[in-house]
Amino acid sequence: PYVVAQPCINCKHTDCVEVCPVDCFYEGPNFLVINPDECIDCNACVPVCPVEAIYADDELPEEWTHYAEWNTYLANQW
Ligand code: SF4
Repeated sequence: PYVVAQPCINCKHTDCVEVCPVDCFYEGPNFLVINPDECIDCNACVPVCPVEAIYADDELPEEWTHYAEWNTYLANQW
């Protein structure tokens, strides 16, 4: 699945939410996350993110690898 990382914080353009065919984005107080159980790996969201915040889980920059767990956790809270 894809993962939303740090550049999304305080961004919330939500262009990604509009293109996602399975509505797997969840919105919190200051950023968005993707529910990995719902993401179908279609890649539609990656090119429309204006801040390059979305990565495949196995391609996350090293400093943001913990965002995979955060997306899983927060998607189930929000
Ligand atoms: Fe939604 Fe596709 Fe992005 Fe997954 S890759 S979050 S299914 S738009």
